[in-house]
Amino acid sequence: MALSALGEPCVLLKLGEVVLKGDNREVFEQRLQANIRAALKEFGFKVDVRQRHGVIALFLPEGTSVETADAVARRVSYVPGLVWIHRAWRVAKDPEAVTKAAIELLADREDVKRGVSFAVRSRRRDKRFPLTSMQLDRQVGGAINDTYGLPVDLRRPELTVSVEVDRDEVFVHTDGLAGQGGLPVGSSGRALVLMSGGIDSPVAAYRMMRRGLRVDFLHFSGIPFTTSESIYKAYALVRALEKFQGRARFWVVPFGKAQQSIKASGQDRLAVIAQRRLMLKTAEEVAHRIRAGALITGDSLGQVSSQTLQNITAQDDAVDLPILRPLIGLDKSEIIAEARRIGTLEISELPDEDCCTLLAPRRPETAAKIDDLKLIERRLDAEELAVQLADSLQEYKPEG
Ligand code: ATP
Ligand code: MG
Repeated sequence: MALSALGEPCVLLKLGEVVLKGDNREVFEQRLQANIRAALKEFGFKVDVRQRHGVIALFLPEGTSVETADAVARRVSYVPGLVWIHRAWRVAKDPEAVTKAAIELLADREDVKRGVSFAVRSRRRDKRFPLTSMQLDRQVGGAINDTYGLPVDLRRPELTVSVEVDRDEVFVHTDGLAGQGGLPVGSSGRALVLMSGGIDSPVAAYRMMRRGLRVDFLHFSGIPFTTSESIYKAYALVRALEKFQGRARFWVVPFGKAQQSIKASGQDRLAVIAQRRLMLKTAEEVAHRIRAGALITGDSLGQVSSQTLQNITAQDDAVDLPILRPLIGLDKSEIIAEARRIGTLEISELPDEDCCTLLAPRRPETAAKIDDLKLIERRLDAEELAVQLADSLQEYKPEG
């Protein structure tokens, strides 16, 4: 396709850790490209995903508006595996075209009207270009200075205009959007998230998606002894997290009756940990059925009595699968800040009746003994109960 002198809007993506992947790199890149294509399906037009040396370029259909290109850039900024997303002009390999594109790029920008300092940074992935990087910097910089009167600051510019000379074309762009970083979803396998309606578990899910896991979700509801609010919250949280990984499955376990049996066993102070172990056993059963290789929780060390070191040890003992706890070393304020950034905080803060309130002893045990827990479980026949609970799942899907 011949490129007109004015060029076309496109989107340029900088990869994160994928570039460290040595021999496996191609597999990771292909996974990332597939995830990008899936994320862009909603636009309804074909996006041409081109792997270049260390970057991915998204070519949009001819005549795509700048606004649409911006929307594409925003959408891919949620896809894990990318560190920078630039809305760029793609122009012919000709210094005049590059200069024109740079001028065009800065038109109507508020910071340009304010007179910000700037620098041009050129890179040549193809050394056959008629100008060296330095000559290109000077030519483009001179033209920007003539047109807009902006001061050059090579050390600490407020605005950077980047010129990337590639094999078939040149990309011109400014700062862009920060991506999520991490690895492409699916490149690390599958896991099952224990999803409450709270603040922590959605952040834990996000963190593990960003490490390349594809996740599904399991929620324990106190029904028939609580309302369904927690289900709706957990459901809304799952849907809010789909912008990062695409479709996820969401199952609810009706847990109220099992909780009553735990309560009836009389060991009040151990009830919370006994219930957590039953949740984990049930989740492990579900994980086996969907071939997930790990469980994920939002535990953070010492945050509540069930998250002391002894109680975490007692929870690990309940299952064979690894329990991933990405928030273990984070403060609540850090978790809240991340929940706000990824758009789950508002949902988590809605009121609900968590199933955990059914079993809230006044003085919960902070150092549960595994033998005591096993005794309760023998009386409950916890292994069999976990299988029954896994059989009683209900899946909640979006309509249509
Ligand atoms: P969160 O904000 O995620 O609810 P929390 O600070 O309230 O966490 P706990 O209630 O002790 O802490 O829960 C610890 C973890 O156990 C949660 O992060 C979640 O992974 C899991 N969990 C707790 N309750 C439920 C539930 N009703 N359904 C599924 N998982 C749950
Ligand atoms: Mg909770």
